[in-house]
Amino acid sequence: MSAFEVLGLDKPLLDAITDLGFEKPSEVQEKAIPLLLSEETDLVALAQTGTGKTAAFGFPMIQKIQAESRTTQGLILSPTRELCLQITNELQLYSKYIKGLNTVAIYGGASITEQARQIKRGAQIVVATPGRMKDMIGRGMVDISKIDYCVLDEADEMLNMGFYEDIKDILSNTPQEKFTWLFSATMPKEVASIAKKFMHKPKEITVGAKNAGATTVQHEYYTVGGRDRYSALKRLADANPGIFSVIFCRTKRDTQKVAEKLIEDGYNAGALHGDLSQNQRDLVMNAFRKKQVQLLVATDVAARGIDVDDVTHVINYQLPDEIETYTHRSGRTGRAGKSGISMVIVTRSELRKINAIEKKIKQDFIAKKIPTGIEICEI
Ligand code: ADP
Ligand code: MG
Repeated sequence: MSAFEVLGLDKPLLDAITDLGFEKPSEVQEKAIPLLLSEETDLVALAQTGTGKTAAFGFPMIQKIQAESRTTQGLILSPTRELCLQITNELQLYSKYIKGLNTVAIYGGASITEQARQIKRGAQIVVATPGRMKDMIGRGMVDISKIDYCVLDEADEMLNMGFYEDIKDILSNTPQEKFTWLFSATMPKEVASIAKKFMHKPKEITVGAKNAGATTVQHEYYTVGGRDRYSALKRLADANPGIFSVIFCRTKRDTQKVAEKLIEDGYNAGALHGDLSQNQRDLVMNAFRKKQVQLLVATDVAARGIDVDDVTHVINYQLPDEIETYTHRSGRTGRAGKSGISMVIVTRSELRKINAIEKKIKQDFIAKKIPTGIEICEI
């Protein structure tokens, strides 16, 4: 028996897993899959980004759904368009040997009538951003009154982005007797209150700080003068020739500015933020996935949840206000068991923030010096 077979998965899924090359389940998969397959229960699962949450809810959902019926039976809510598409792609790969099982993505910034048409053709699983979902319910374009399973993916992030009311609204259109599976990297009180309000005696799973995602990331900080941030960034890029990095700034304006300067200075960089058109965002993401762009400068919102496996370095050009945001940022590297480095550029006055983060992530930072020109030449 394969490691996945032991969890209770059937042949069509096992064959798809073989094609994907997954050898053994990740910790969250090991805990969630047998539970969700064998029990009809609500679930709260806490696990860092990059730990394989999509399959943890996707495999059981696919196995439980009636592919012969065209009714929408599973709903997955996810914070961004990029994540919706990513989850949909994954689920389509997982269900490739199950005839007639359709997963459809609905999200803003694309034709609503086309999405409605896809749903009308029969979508047993719908993956949606809360805003577009609410819109389509309002227009009678989607019927979620018969769903059996509802996943709230990246619940902390959806709430951060202000989707509480939309989620409440959407859930009020679903049947009482469904099961809700909530997945989140962190458990702020807003998430706890959602769980309390909308879930019935949820089982809980926590993937400890020992999971692959957390321990394979090394955290480093570099102290600089306030005006030296940009030159420090360039030196860090120069000192790591194979770098493939997401660089986080605090505002859309800074994001655009830093990306432009890097491009001007001859770096292979691109910007990702909410002031760009959907088309521009897709272009830069595709280029990044193909490694045509080496340095992706991004805002937190735009980069959230982006699943690109080989990110070698996360660079915090500026620290975020919230410690949880730092957790999300550093989760962009060290994915799928690979190692990664999360670098923070700080001024002296920000050093106490490093202490606060260390306490939260239960891992120490390494204090590093910005490499000088000579060291770079030696490399
Ligand atoms: P999360 O939602 O927790 O951030 P994802 O579900 O996006 O994580 O998975 C992260 C990456 O790991 C994806 O590229 C996925 O295909 C891969 N992955 C998931 N499960 C496994 C596994 N059991 N073995 C190998 N790779 C996996
Ligand atoms: Mg995910």
